[in-house]
Amino acid sequence: MQACDCQETELVVNKAQTHVIGAGLAGLAAALRLAGADHVGPRRHVVLHEAAAQAGGRCRSFFDAQLGCTIDNGNHILLTANRAALAYLDDIGSRDSLIAPTTARFPFIDLASGETWVVRPNAGPLPWWLLAARRRVPGTGLGDYLAAWRLWRASPTQRVGDCLDPASPLWSRFWEPLCVAALNTRPEEASARLLARVLGESFVRGEAACRTLVARDSLAASFVDPALARLAQRGGEIRFKKRLRHIVFGAERVEALDFGDESLPIGADDRVICALPPTAAAALIPQLTAPGDSRPIVNAHLRLSAEQRARARLPGPFVGLIGGTADWIFLRGDVASLTVSAAEDLIELDNDRLAERLWHDAARALDLGIGAPPPLRLIKEKRATFAQTPAMLARRAPARTAWRNLFLAGDWTDTGYPATIESAVRSGNRAADLVLAAGSR
Ligand SMILES: Cc1cc2nc3c(=O)[nH]c(=O)nc-3n(C[C@H](O)[C@H](O)[C@H](O)COP(=O)(O)OP(=O)(O)OC[C@H]3O[C@@H](n4cnc5c(N)ncnc54)[C@H](O)[C@@H]3O)c2cc1C
Repeated sequence: MQACDCQETELVVNKAQTHVIGAGLAGLAAALRLAGADHVGPRRHVVLHEAAAQAGGRCRSFFDAQLGCTIDNGNHILLTANRAALAYLDDIGSRDSLIAPTTARFPFIDLASGETWVVRPNAGPLPWWLLAARRRVPGTGLGDYLAAWRLWRASPTQRVGDCLDPASPLWSRFWEPLCVAALNTRPEEASARLLARVLGESFVRGEAACRTLVARDSLAASFVDPALARLAQRGGEIRFKKRLRHIVFGAERVEALDFGDESLPIGADDRVICALPPTAAAALIPQLTAPGDSRPIVNAHLRLSAEQRARARLPGPFVGLIGGTADWIFLRGDVASLTVSAAEDLIELDNDRLAERLWHDAARALDLGIGAPPPLRLIKEKRATFAQTPAMLARRAPARTAWRNLFLAGDWTDTGYPATIESAVRSGNRAADLVLAAGSR
C-alpha cells in the first residue's frame, strides 16, 4: 500500500458514501442515479469530485468575453434513438430545453457545387425512402444503400472502408459524413461493426428513431445545470477544483483517495466510481486497459452582425456541409457554429488560416457574401473522443475492476455504444447499478 503524506480529512456523515470522480455526463448520471435510489438500497451519501471549476467535462458551456455571449465547447447532437440520454434529461426535467423536429430530416449543402438536398427516412420499419429519389442523396441508387449490409457482416477487425466503396457517390455525401459525425473517426479506419450498431439503432428503426435534437440555449442549460440542481435536491454533494491525484490501493479494495490537499479514507462500505476520461483513468489505475488513441474535434463560433443575422438562412437548426472544410453548420440566435470532426489534419493548422477557411464555409452556407469575418472563436478539443477503430474498441474496459469497491464509468468504457452522450450516461447508470447491487458487501 502506498502512503500519502497529506493530512487526512474525514467527511462527517454517518452513512456509507459513494465517491464519484469526474463531473462529466457519466459522473453526473452515476451520482444522480445513486442519490435518487435510496429507496432500493442502503442509504448512501453521494460526493461528486471534479477537477475543474465547472461540471460538464467535454459537454460544457462558458461565457466567451471575445464574442460577448455564452457558447458551447462544441455542437452536440442527440438522436431520438438515444434512450438513456433522453431518460437522463427527463430525470433532470430538461428534455423541453432541446429543439426537437417533428420528423427526421438531414439537410445538406454541397459548398463546391451549390447543390442542396434533404435525406428523409420514412416512418415504420420498411425503408421505402430508399426507393424515393427525392428522399435520398442525389445521384445515388438503391444499390448504394443496400451495400451497407456488409457492415453487419464485418468482423471485429474490419473498418468501414473495408466494407463500403470509397468511389461510390454515396461515400462522400453520406457514409463519410455519417461515420465522422457518429464515430469521430474517418471511415478508412473506423470500426465497421460500431457503425452498423449506430445504423441499427437509428436508420434501420425508421424516422422516429433518427430525429435530431440540439440544445436550444446551451449545453449547460440542457445537460449540466439542471443535473447539478437535481443532485443537490437529492442531498448529493459536489466539490469543484478537486483533482484526484492518486488512489491508494489495498489488496482487494481502494483504501484512500488523495486529492493533494487532502486524503479521504475509504471505509469498508464506501464505494468509488471513477468517471474520468481514458487517459486520466489509466494514469490513476494500475494496469488499466483503456483506449490510448484519441481524435480531435474543432469548432468555430461566429457572432453575426445584425445585418448578417437578418440575411442568414438555414433549412433547420443545423445543416451538413460537403465540399468545404467544416462538416456541419449550426445557427442559434446570432451565433453560427461550424464543426469539424476527426479533425486530425487541421488541429496543428495555424489558427488564422483555419478561422479563414471556416469563415468561408459559413459565408457560403449562409449566403452572407465573403467580407470581413465577424468575431470568431476557435475551440480545438484535441481529445474529443477516443479513436473508434477496431484496435481501440478492443481496449474498452468493463465497469467492474479488480478492486471490489472501485467501478468505472465514462463514454470510453465498454458500453457497446460510440463515445457519445448516450454512452456516457449508460456507463454512469451501469456503474451506479453495480454499486447498488453490491449493497454493503
Ligand atoms: C467538441 C465535441 C463534440 C461532441 N459532439 C457530440 C455529439 O454531437 N453527440 C454526442 O452524443 N456526443 C458528442 N460528443 C461526445 C460527448 O461530449 C462525450 O461523449 C461525453 O461528454 C463524455 O462524458 P464523460 O463523462 O464520459 O467524460 P468527460 O466529459 O471527459 O468527463 C470527465 C470529467 O472528469 C474530470 N476530471 C479529469 N481528470 C480528473 C481528476 N484527476 N480528478 C477529478 N476530475 C477529473 C474532467 O474535468 C471532466 O469533467 C462531443 C464531444 C466533443 C468534445
